[in-house]
Amino acid sequence: MAGYSKETARLWMAMDIGPLWIGRDEDDPLSPQSIAKDSTAKEITTAPKSVAEQNSTHSDAFKPASTVNKTPPHEHSVLTSPESHKPKTYELKPIRRSSAEPGIVEVDSELLTRAQNADWKTLQTLVSQCTACKALSQSRLSTVFGTAEKTAKMVIVGEAPGRDEDLQGKPFVGKSGELLENILRSLGLRRGADVAIINVLKCRPPNNRDPHDNEIAACATFLTRQLELLDPKVIVLSGRIASHALLKTEMSTGRLRGQTHHIEVNGKPIPTVVTYHPSYLLRSPTEKICAWRDFNLAKKLLLELS
Ligand code: SF4
Repeated sequence: MAGYSKETARLWMAMDIGPLWIGRDEDDPLSPQSIAKDSTAKEITTAPKSVAEQNSTHSDAFKPASTVNKTPPHEHSVLTSPESHKPKTYELKPIRRSSAEPGIVEVDSELLTRAQNADWKTLQTLVSQCTACKALSQSRLSTVFGTAEKTAKMVIVGEAPGRDEDLQGKPFVGKSGELLENILRSLGLRRGADVAIINVLKCRPPNNRDPHDNEIAACATFLTRQLELLDPKVIVLSGRIASHALLKTEMSTGRLRGQTHHIEVNGKPIPTVVTYHPSYLLRSPTEKICAWRDFNLAKKLLLELS
């Protein structure tokens, strides 16, 4: 294990990867060479569109500020190759999911107007009063607003509360929350104080179904205001729903991860990393190595910007 730091070893333990990975792979997946190779393989080859063309297809509340990686090459980085800093572009499309039967949504425009300028506490109260999504507001046990402290510089955005979150009123609890906290702890980050955790939807969809597009749109004002108030240095999008909602793309998490995107918050492009949702990692433990790299990239961006 020579050449790997104590921090790396802690991350392996936290993600339940273990040093067995080293022996099983032909190439050491944690070596700088393999990591550089993996980042290079993530190049997106879709024909680029102009920014004007991209913007013309979307008038949604969220703005992917740019799909171009603006992060300068980092001379000490072993996580990404210089190629991973080349501009990347991909086609933006409206979100369309085959199972997306529209849920009944009746937006209270007065409540949303108040939300646009609310402080954190007021926003939380407004969310708890929101009944825009009929199915969700009737079946929820609680609204799940998020955990955050003023000092948090990184924001993780998940999709929607599940059963445990609905019961406890907190995002990312249960086994997936435990895995996420282990990852953060291994990176020397504290949930709340260093990392805020919020969801695209604040209410649990019945039977944990995917959120409908109109439900995501109805909740967008709350999410936008949360991001404005948190004013993060780095955003991590956890899973398909969050990355589709905020980056306005239908690309798979596998294609979106391994590079730096940007989302506009308070008029600034915020570096954004896509990774797998912890509950997916529990089902597909072989992908933990990818999440390990994603969180390292997010931490590296955070250090560069702090
Ligand atoms: Fe309101 Fe969001 Fe809950 Fe829908 S998911 S009822 S918009 S708080």
